[in-house]
Amino acid sequence: MQKLNKRRLGIYLHIPFCRSKCAYCDFYSFVPKDADVCERYVKALVAHMESYKSSCADYAPDTVFIGGGTPTSLPVDLLLEVIRGLKSSFHLAKNVEMTLEANPATITYKDLLRLRRAGVNRLSIGLQSGDNAELKTLSRIHTRRDFEEAFRAARRAKINNINVDVMFGIPGQTQESVMRTLNYVTRLSPEHISFYNLKIEEGTPFWEMRGSLNLPDEDEEYAMYMNAVRFLAYKGYAQYEISNFAKPGYQCMHNIKYWNCDEYLGLGPGAHSFFNGTRFSFCRNAERYMKALEHPEANIRITDSTEEIKTKERLGEYVMLRFRLSEGISVREFYRLFGRDFDAMYGAKLARFIRGGFVERLGDSYRMTPKGMFISNYILSDLLDFSDVDLYDPMS
Ligand code: SF4
Repeated sequence: MQKLNKRRLGIYLHIPFCRSKCAYCDFYSFVPKDADVCERYVKALVAHMESYKSSCADYAPDTVFIGGGTPTSLPVDLLLEVIRGLKSSFHLAKNVEMTLEANPATITYKDLLRLRRAGVNRLSIGLQSGDNAELKTLSRIHTRRDFEEAFRAARRAKINNINVDVMFGIPGQTQESVMRTLNYVTRLSPEHISFYNLKIEEGTPFWEMRGSLNLPDEDEEYAMYMNAVRFLAYKGYAQYEISNFAKPGYQCMHNIKYWNCDEYLGLGPGAHSFFNGTRFSFCRNAERYMKALEHPEANIRITDSTEEIKTKERLGEYVMLRFRLSEGISVREFYRLFGRDFDAMYGAKLARFIRGGFVERLGDSYRMTPKGMFISNYILSDLLDFSDVDLYDPMS
């Protein structure tokens, strides 16, 4: 029987494969050259999970996120092998939230049914736009129709917790087309919507083309964001994070762990972890990753960086991540965690953002308004001057 006092943990499993690479994407993923690579990778990932069996014996993971890449680009039998490996290596909590990321062109009803029976109870579908011309600009491999078929297949397979990713700031996108997409998506009534801004990342084809992309300007993006926040609230989706909106009871528990600075273990090339007080990540090199797990005797190093998190950094991270959440930062909770007075540390700096309507103080908490969330990077970089933070270790 599962002990009640087991620690909670989030598990992220990275599947680094895609059917083709989107022009804006800088995630670690590639098109596998043959099916053997996928089989080798799944074996390596399962072996990696097994290697954590004893260090995770005291944990009952309550969230699992199988992301990528495109996990559903793997044959379903391989995905089921990943889930079997997961269950044999970890004592999953009884009510575990298990999310699978899916590209609409890569899922069928039959596969979803098998995956749901294996434990997948949340599906995250990357639509990005309901406009086929915008999808083409993004070089997505699916159409709006593919998405709709995938969505309905998921419902038929009785997956009753679905997220849809929607993007704004797409080249050529207008206010009207964003609203048409949101209107279309909300009519299907998913439980959760991620609405996020396209970023032009270095190293991507979009970066090379950045001078010629017809990108909406900042004022247009601001209007898109604010209109979306209002529209989604009207449709019953409460904003709980800068880019995330959910019907009551359907917030993504896995992602909340990141923003709450809770523990999570990420396995696979490029995956990050915060586990046992340490942050680390694995190398963005699938071949090296597979070799290391196929030949443990060769001691091939796959950890990219390992960093023990000191209180000073923890405090800064906490402010940076917690402020992303609509509930913001509780002064009392901050004192309990760090033994510091949040008002004394940040109150003066926050005052001008409160005057501008970007931050509000409600009872014991500071939180960003939607207007503030749009410029959250600016607010946080202004706030987090680490020289202000004296070292204080409540554990010492
Ligand atoms: S499907 Fe997703 S992970 Fe794959 S290339 Fe496109 S955006 Fe990146």
